[in-house]
Amino acid sequence: MAIALAMAMAMALAMAMPLAMAMAMALAMAIALPLAMAMAQAMAMAMAMAKKKTIAQMVNKAAELLQLLRRLEESDDSGYVSCVVCGVTKHYKDNMHGGHFISRARTATKLDERNIWPECARCNMPGGGHEAGWAAFMVNKYGIEGVEELHALSRTTRKYYRGEVEDLIGEFKERIKKEEERVVTNSQ
Ligand SMILES: [Zn+2]
Repeated sequence: MAIALAMAMAMALAMAMPLAMAMAMALAMAIALPLAMAMAQAMAMAMAMAKKKTIAQMVNKAAELLQLLRRLEESDDSGYVSCVVCGVTKHYKDNMHGGHFISRARTATKLDERNIWPECARCNMPGGGHEAGWAAFMVNKYGIEGVEELHALSRTTRKYYRGEVEDLIGEFKERIKKEEERVVTNSQ
């Protein structure tokens, strides 16, 4: 009953409404609706941007950038780099990682450049038995004392501040850009 009444009212309204007015309304809807949707989208984006990342999330972002940077820095001008554990040489984008000597779970050495070297995906698998290869490489590079120092550092508590991590992210991006230019420029 209510539906029938509503339909009858709608039909009456439609017939009564002058054509020009109906067109004007349709036009207004066509303009207003996309505009309202665009505004809602813009607001949602602004809100997402305003929502600050936690410092831990920023440290993770910095760590990812540093892993890429270290792979690039060790690459030759054609982008080829060797795994420090097994010696396999591949393009830095081809299953090569920025591997950690001391697990990246240790916050204090997570962003320490001495701790990050190119490592192939196979050697970087958990439980891959790559410790001996890593130790040999690191001792050769930094000496026993240097490796012990890094281990000692990894056991300390490190608190990161927002400003310093922001600076690091900026620095790493800048250095990555330069390295990518070097590799790209020289491989053409
Ligand atoms: Zn390897």
